Amino acid sequence: MAEAAVEGAAPTPFPIGLNPLEVEEDVKHVDLVVKELARQIREVQARSEALIKISGFIGLWKASTCRYYDEKRGVCRAWRLREDAADEVRKLLGPDAVWRDEKGFERFRIARYPFICAICPLYRSRASEEKGGEGKG
Ligand code: SF4
Repeated sequence: MAEAAVEGAAPTPFPIGLNPLEVEEDVKHVDLVVKELARQIREVQARSEALIKISGFIGLWKASTCRYYDEKRGVCRAWRLREDAADEVRKLLGPDAVWRDEKGFERFRIARYPFICAICPLYRSRASEEKGGEGKG
């Protein structure tokens, strides 16, 4: 019954109490704000992608010279992630970000995500290993 009454009523041209010109201005303002937000989001996204790319280059170099990098498997032998941390990394980066080795240790898959090396504090140069010293190279 109520629906029939609404359907039959003449459509209101504009909500009572609102000035159409002011509303139009508000809509234009919102449109500008949305466009500016979209521009800023694109800029942040582009910078994030650049940061990840540059970190990847640095990470590739560190991996190629780090004594803990297992080239054959593409994993780091220094880090052993707790299961909950490994799950968190998988959620953040994807299921292939961590690899469980034959002993059940969770390892970073550096070959897939080399930027991890870029921010790693455990890096040790192979050169220092070859010299037989710690932290000499
Ligand atoms: S830099 Fe860090 S994460 Fe990368 S292989 Fe070496 S120890 Fe592992």
